[in-house]
Amino acid sequence: MWSIYDGTVPSDAGSPAPTLAAVVDIFGAAEDDGPLGWQERALCAQTDPEAFFPEKGGSTREAKKVCASCDVRSECLDYALENDERFGIWGGLSERERRKLKRRAV
Ligand code: SF4
Repeated sequence: MWSIYDGTVPSDAGSPAPTLAAVVDIFGAAEDDGPLGWQERALCAQTDPEAFFPEKGGSTREAKKVCASCDVRSECLDYALENDERFGIWGGLSERERRKLKRRAV
């Protein structure tokens, strides 16, 4: 018997067994913890994206309601602030609200 966890290759097998790293490379990690891994859990991905990018003067209420229930709200807001996202609702805040927040933080 070989173990996927330590990458041990069975001595009696005809071909080498895959290591855990090789399996992860092919199928991906169970949870992506990369810098943008939070996007996998973005609640807005399951809703109407147009609500997050309303026309000028349009309502942001529906998008903000979704953001209020989103598990990655703080990661999303941090990303928008760090990347100076100009348009749309990110982390529950409009572009104007994010600008205000940034000014207060300086
Ligand atoms: S906080 Fe809002 S915009 Fe950000 S990922 Fe969640 S639902 Fe989407």
